[in-house]
Amino acid sequence: MKHDIKHYIDGSSVAATSGRTSPVFNPATGDHTADLGLASLDDVNAAVAAARAAYHTWRRTSIAARSKLMFRFRNLVEENTDSIARALTAEHGKVLSDAVGEVERGLENIEFACGIAELLKGSYNEGASAGINVYTIRQPLGVVAGITPFNFPAMVPLWTIPNAIAAGNTYVLKPSERDPSAPLLLAELFQEAGFPDGVLNVLQGDKVAVDGLLEHRDVQAVSFVGSTPIAKYVYETGTRNGKRVQALAGAKNHMVVMPDAELDIAADAAVSAAFGSAGERCMAVSVLVTVGDIADPLIDAIRERMSRLIVGDGTDPDSEMGPLVTAEHRGRVVDYIAQGAAAGASVAVDGRDQAFNSNGYFLAPTLIDNVTTDMSVYTDEIFGPVLSVVRTDSFDEAVRLIRNNRWGNGAAIFTRDGGTARAFQDDVEAGMVGINVPIPVPVGYHSFGGWNDSLFGDTTMYGPEGVRFFTRPKVVTSRWPDPAESSVNLGFPRSD
Ligand code: NAD
Repeated sequence: MKHDIKHYIDGSSVAATSGRTSPVFNPATGDHTADLGLASLDDVNAAVAAARAAYHTWRRTSIAARSKLMFRFRNLVEENTDSIARALTAEHGKVLSDAVGEVERGLENIEFACGIAELLKGSYNEGASAGINVYTIRQPLGVVAGITPFNFPAMVPLWTIPNAIAAGNTYVLKPSERDPSAPLLLAELFQEAGFPDGVLNVLQGDKVAVDGLLEHRDVQAVSFVGSTPIAKYVYETGTRNGKRVQALAGAKNHMVVMPDAELDIAADAAVSAAFGSAGERCMAVSVLVTVGDIADPLIDAIRERMSRLIVGDGTDPDSEMGPLVTAEHRGRVVDYIAQGAAAGASVAVDGRDQAFNSNGYFLAPTLIDNVTTDMSVYTDEIFGPVLSVVRTDSFDEAVRLIRNNRWGNGAAIFTRDGGTARAFQDDVEAGMVGINVPIPVPVGYHSFGGWNDSLFGDTTMYGPEGVRFFTRPKVVTSRWPDPAESSVNLGFPRSD
């Protein structure tokens, strides 16, 4: 039965006041399952006001108390993995096992923030000058906002919420309109863990909500993840309004396969990384770069594996790949395949050929060979189950190809040669590199982020960089002088 989805503000479920709604669908059936109330500016103001009111107490709550709550939240998320995963599958479409994996990767980020005491340690110099001690402490920023995409509705919010809040900030999350239920569940578990009202708020909405947050004077920092045009817009608008902004953006991730690579391992990796989650991952491999004569046997091995993939409803344990998120997005991906064919590429496996007995937004995996760098299937982010093959003659040509691409999120190489892997690591233009690992998403205690048009701003997300983003340094110079030694001195303070 269709239900209404609301905001979560100041510890309560609150209806949107705009009168505008956005439909939420089950992508596997095409059913209209919920109506999401979209925020008005008044709702934005209410969410920020709740976070601001909570901030003054929260930032003074001891580190010990903050991390205890974070531990509780971690345990509740783990205990509720199944229901969060089901909410993900019902609105995003990814298969349940993949949804469980998403929650588990999110848990890593909560676990990292449980150690906030260590992460917030400052530095101290005794005797920097005669009788003077100097120390640097890190303090929270205040109210911060997170704006997240549809493709990881639980994990991406968990990239930033734990570090931001453990560091003493309060938070307003604006999740994607397409799959808002999992983030809402997280907020409820957060409250159940015992965090005070207003520390984490969920504001449902669209551009009105995003613009309201970007322009709100009480929002100190904005952490965004989404497509490149919107990331650029959020970065430019947020920084123009005096905010600290990190905006992670789109991608076109290349996987280079050298002639000496282990063929079966490379073929397994390419299929898993291109078609997992229907290619709707910012770290999905969307370009396979073959070097030399491995191309034909590799493509044969990939086709063979593709013929065995089971596409279906994510709740069916046999399904390996679910539908695309919306009918509109499916149409866009189909259109790209047609553009590739029209531009002269060879559609080696055509996902459009497979019929599905369902109203869901299914599209079977597609392999496009002989792609050149001027084709839209290469230049644009498709974000679907489409793998393009670019054939090259040498390692240098492969690395140059990646350098000339506008994005730089992830890049991977498959080889058995340590020297080649090392040269790739040194030279490739990407923020995250895989050596015989196709999706090199860093663990929670490193940080995540790409280069070039895959990230706007200076700091990457989660891990140590995430803590830096959500805190600012304060340097204290202190002296406890003997009154007998005090005198007026108009000279510039010197370090003697
Ligand atoms: P999107 O850019 O359409 O939406 C992201 C967020 O921006 C959503 O919350 C949405 O409501 C908001 N938004 C959309 N249009 C807006 C507008 N005109 N003005 C203001 N706000 C707006 O992205 P998506 O389709 O939800 O997600 C897929 C994209 O996210 C892909 O490009 C993918 O590569 C990228 N992504 C990147 C990373 C990364 O770490 N680099 C991770 C996940 C997803």
